Amino acid sequence: MTELSERPRVSPRLVGSLPTGFLAATWQQPAEGRTFGVTDPATGEVVAQVADCDPQDAMTALDAACAVAPSWTRTSPRHRADVLHRVYSLMHERREHLAGLITLEVGKTLTEARGEVDYAADYVRWYAEEAVRPAGRSTTAPNGEYQILTVAEPVGPCLLITPWNVPLAMATRKAAPALAAGCTAVLKPSELTPLSSIAFAQLVLDAGAPPGALTLVTTVSAGPLCAQVMADERLRKVSFTGSTAVGRTLLSHAGARVLRTSMELGGNAPFIVFDDADLEVAVEQAVIAKMRLGGQSCVAANRFLVQDGIAGRFATALGERLAAYRLGPGDADGVGLGPLVDDRAVDKATRLRDDALARGATLVAQAQMPEPQVASRGSYFAPVVLDLVPPDAAITHEEVFAPVAAITRFRTEDEAVALANDTEHGLVSYLFTQDLTRASRVTGLLQSGMVGINRGLVSDVAAPFGGIKQSGLGREGGPEGITEYQQLKYVAAPGLRT
Ligand code: NAP
Repeated sequence: MTELSERPRVSPRLVGSLPTGFLAATWQQPAEGRTFGVTDPATGEVVAQVADCDPQDAMTALDAACAVAPSWTRTSPRHRADVLHRVYSLMHERREHLAGLITLEVGKTLTEARGEVDYAADYVRWYAEEAVRPAGRSTTAPNGEYQILTVAEPVGPCLLITPWNVPLAMATRKAAPALAAGCTAVLKPSELTPLSSIAFAQLVLDAGAPPGALTLVTTVSAGPLCAQVMADERLRKVSFTGSTAVGRTLLSHAGARVLRTSMELGGNAPFIVFDDADLEVAVEQAVIAKMRLGGQSCVAANRFLVQDGIAGRFATALGERLAAYRLGPGDADGVGLGPLVDDRAVDKATRLRDDALARGATLVAQAQMPEPQVASRGSYFAPVVLDLVPPDAAITHEEVFAPVAAITRFRTEDEAVALANDTEHGLVSYLFTQDLTRASRVTGLLQSGMVGINRGLVSDVAAPFGGIKQSGLGREGGPEGITEYQQLKYVAAPGLRT
């Protein structure tokens, strides 16, 4: 085993080093000391080397999760709640450190990164509170001869796979309900953003969770590593957040083992603005729905569907707001928007923007790129507003995952609903109108797991987050989120005769 001092460390730039011993939280030491680099998207610099685990290392992590599972499952719900409350407190104590890591690995501004830490910690607090409220019911059988009892048991060892865009919050949205329910877990973050997950895994240990309750594997070989773990019959559940394409692959592995899954997949959110909407509110909320995480969010507004009578004013006002963004490194003063996560993201956004323009869309406004010495080093993309985007443009069918606001105009309510539902995805829809009857009618017709009415932000730890159609299966957050890590046992028990 390599000495801690010889192990890969995170760059002290910006955030200082990770807590001493952070690698002890993980199965981060492959036998040959393989590592991979983590790149800061603001500068293109490799800022840390972390362990590159192979499938065998992942099996060691699963062994640890399975070894501790029986004792963790038998702890009292109050004990698990207490551990999670300590995790919550430590996340706030280490807020600046965690936020710094998120900015370093994802590129988002420090303000947004701090917001992510708070949001991530709130999931931990919510599930600390849910831990002591296990589901279950009891009733008398219809023939009156016995009792029907249901007991919620932990499903067992889980594999948690998270994306790069909200790395800490996606980790807590899975790990907190899993631990609260009495499950143990192996967490696999994206190779682009392992740093905040490493710090989180250490923090869970520091809060008193036993080694193995949450282990971490970082790797550049997600496919073979996850396939091997999922083939092991000791694994009882996989919870995945990421693209629909990878979700489909994982569902086929899961099908072979009839493994329980939660799938939080891609989106293609319509943001519908009717003529009678409050323009100021619609624009304000459009900025939130489009620009949160620089557009790199599964619930980002991907298609602005705007009624003819208000479309011109909406486009102009949104253009003014997006053009005003100042781009630069996420930790620099006065910067409102950091880089995208990597150059591939920039290439995709450029392709989708140019395709829309080639098909007849008009450019309403575009922000300035940062000065050349900054822009040439990082993965920057200037926010842009496009109007008159035709429904056949690629951007209306692909997740752009960047600050491109694509406006398509419509005339009638029926047309708006048809356009909104014309996608394989069904994660979230937003609609803006001051007519309550219309709001409820259209909400009922929209094919999505979540709807925001006159709101561009629906995420809340107390709400069931999730999609329909090819946006996924299952829900995270709210009381529903913990049931994803529980299985019901029905007990037919002797009746209580009075
Ligand atoms: P992704 O490419 O699907 O990756 C997600 C995770 O899966 C990463 O940890 C990735 O590891 C891993 N992975 C990749 N190939 C795999 C395989 N064959 N087997 C097992 N794991 C594999 O998605 P992403 O680019 O990170 O994230 C963006 C996507 O996530 C978008 O589509 C977005 O809409 C979606 N998302 C959905 C939600 C939601 O709640 N519905 C929330 C956030 C994001 P590597 O990165 O190391 O390859």
